[in-house]
Amino acid sequence: MKIISDMLNLLFPMQCGICGKLGDSICNKCYDNLKKYEIKNQHEDVFFMYKYEGLVRKLIIDYKFNDKAYLYKTFSKCLLKNKNFCQFIKKYDIMVSVPLHRRRFLERGYNQSELIAKELAKDLTRKFTENNKQNSSNKLDNNMVEDAGSNISYNKDVLIKIKNTKPQSTKSEEERIKDVKGIYEVKNSQIIKNKKVLIFDDIHTTGSTVNECKKKLLQAGAKEVGILALAKDYID
Ligand SMILES: [Zn+2]
Repeated sequence: MKIISDMLNLLFPMQCGICGKLGDSICNKCYDNLKKYEIKNQHEDVFFMYKYEGLVRKLIIDYKFNDKAYLYKTFSKCLLKNKNFCQFIKKYDIMVSVPLHRRRFLERGYNQSELIAKELAKDLTRKFTENNKQNSSNKLDNNMVEDAGSNISYNKDVLIKIKNTKPQSTKSEEERIKDVKGIYEVKNSQIIKNKKVLIFDDIHTTGSTVNECKKKLLQAGAKEVGILALAKDYID
């Protein structure tokens, strides 16, 4: 696997998703330019990395609507370079993402949250395995927080959306809460029984969607449910 990824890196060198500099999916300069926000609540079960504004907002819009699917690597790496995030994610066993309805998935071709969550889990478990190997001479990635890594797995078959909804952005908070009732279901609940589950969402607005997902996961037997969002959007 290492040889294959080395070869792919030769053919398609990694480059910064923002400025294009070769080397990694985010360069240090662009990483520093993104203003971190890092909100955790007092129960330490919520983590928002950025505010949904400025460059972050532009990048997320490009990612979701302007065919810049490759930015999932950039977003994932931004999280992994953050110490507080790496600490936060350690206690969770399983990561899931807010699902798209099949019709919207077909229109877009990818679920933007799923791509980021999958990449995150992959890098975290890789780092975890590496850290647990003694005398590991084969450092795969020096660009992550040193003690990062967790045994978290990603599962896309736990939360499913059973009804399609109109985009949430034009609605009031009350409408949103009413809207999401009965839309999500938990499948394969044995996977999350007694587990600490983390829900990944790209943008956290009022939270009506993730809170509904959280309720369903707890009802299905999850021990604890946390929320992770790339960006927090404030609407008045
Ligand atoms: Zn850059």
